[in-house]
Amino acid sequence: MLDATGTTTTSDAAAIIGVEGAIASLAPRSDFPILAREINGKPLAFLDSAASSQKPAAVLDAMDHFARTSYANIHRGAYTLSEEATRAYERARKTVAKFINARSAREVIYTRNTTESINLVARSWADANLRPGDTILLSEMEHHSNIVPWQLAAQRTGAQVIYTPITDEGELDLVAYAELLERHKPRLVALTQMSNVLGTLPPLGDLITQAHAIGALVLVDGAQGAPHMPVDVRALDCDFYAFSGHKMLGPSGIGILWGRAELLDAMPPFMGGGDMIREVTLAGSTWSDLPWKFEAGTPAIIEAVGLGAAVDYLRQLGMERVHAHERALTAYALERLRAVPGLTIYGPPAERRGGVVSFTLGEIHAHDLATLLDREGVAVRAGHHCAQPLMERLNVAATARASFYVYTTSAEVDALAEALEHARAVFAF
Ligand code: PMP
Repeated sequence: MLDATGTTTTSDAAAIIGVEGAIASLAPRSDFPILAREINGKPLAFLDSAASSQKPAAVLDAMDHFARTSYANIHRGAYTLSEEATRAYERARKTVAKFINARSAREVIYTRNTTESINLVARSWADANLRPGDTILLSEMEHHSNIVPWQLAAQRTGAQVIYTPITDEGELDLVAYAELLERHKPRLVALTQMSNVLGTLPPLGDLITQAHAIGALVLVDGAQGAPHMPVDVRALDCDFYAFSGHKMLGPSGIGILWGRAELLDAMPPFMGGGDMIREVTLAGSTWSDLPWKFEAGTPAIIEAVGLGAAVDYLRQLGMERVHAHERALTAYALERLRAVPGLTIYGPPAERRGGVVSFTLGEIHAHDLATLLDREGVAVRAGHHCAQPLMERLNVAATARASFYVYTTSAEVDALAEALEHARAVFAF
C-alpha cells in the first residue's frame, strides 16, 4: 500500500520480502524471453531498466501480430486494413489516456519519447508565451532532456533558466524552492517525478500546488514516473506530463505528451507536415484538432500498438504493486550494498526513493566497474546518466547505477553484491 506521499508502507515491504528474505519477481520472468540469456557464461542479471526496460512476449507478440495482419498507414485510407490500423493506433491512445487518468484521449499526444515531448512544450508553448525577463524554474537533479530544451527556449525568447538546489542527501531543497518561486515568479516549473540517478521522489503534489499559487504552469518529467508508480494527471494537477514507452515495457520510438486540453488547444503546432493539417493552400494552412495537430507525418504505428499492450500488461500487474515491489527491492539493495566495503551510495534513504541505486566503488572508474560486473553477467549503467549538473553537485565524475523493474529479483541484487566483491578483489582493496 502507498501512503499519502506515495511511500510503500513497511508492512507491504515485509509482505513482499517474505520469510526467507528473498524477493521474487512481480511479473513472471518467463514472460520476458531475453531474461533467459546468459552473459559471459553467467545468468543475466539485468539491472538497467531505468535506461530502457525489457519487453514481455505480450508486447512483442502484439506488435508482431499487428504487423502481420493489420498494418497499413493510418487515418486517410478508406480501405479495411487502414481502418483497422487506425483503430488499433487510436485504441492504444485511449488505453494510455485511461492509464494516466486523462480527461480525454484528445489530451494524449504521441511523440517519439520524453525528450521530444518536452521539446514540443519548449518549442510550442515557450516560444509563444515567454518574454525577456521571464523565468523557467528547474532543479539541479534534472535529466539533460529536462534542461537543454529550456536553455534553448531561453536563448530564443530572452527568458532565464534558474535551478532549485538539492541537499547533500540528494533531495530538493524545499525552502530554496519556495523562495525561488516567491522571488522570481517563474512562468513554468519543470520537475522530474523521480531522479534517474538518485531515485529521489520529490513531493510533487506540494511542489505543484506551490507553483500554481504563484501562477506558474508545471511540466512533470515522468520518464521515471509512469513506468514505476500509479500516475493520475488530474490528481497530480500538473499541466504537462511527459514519458517514454521504452522504459515501461514498450518499444522505443514512441512516447507521450499529456497536456491540459485548453493549453494544447491554444498552442501552435510543433512540426508541420501531413496529418496535422485541416487545409493547406499555397497561401497558408489551418490545423487539425487535438491530438493530431501535434502529430505531423507518419507516426510510429506499430510502436503505438506495442505501447498499448505494455500499458495493458502493467495494468494487470497493478501499478501500486509495481511500486511496492521496487521499493522493497531498493530497501533490500541498500542494505545488501551497504555491506560492501569501499562502496559509496548516492541519494536519499530507501523510504524516499524509487528503484534506482547509484554508487561508486573506491577509486575504480564507473566504466571499469561496469565492465567487471558484466563479466559476472550483471548489467548496470555507468557514466553521468545524462545529468551532468547533478554529477557536478555530487562532486563525482561518473557513477555506476543499478535499477529495478517488475522482473527484478533479490537474487539479482545478490549477484550484483557478489560481483562487486569480485571487483574489489581484482583491484585488490
Ligand atoms: N528524463 C528522465 C528522468 C530520464 O530518466 C530519461 C531517460 N534516461 C529521460 C528524461 C529521457 O528519456 P528519453 O531518452 O526516452 O527521451
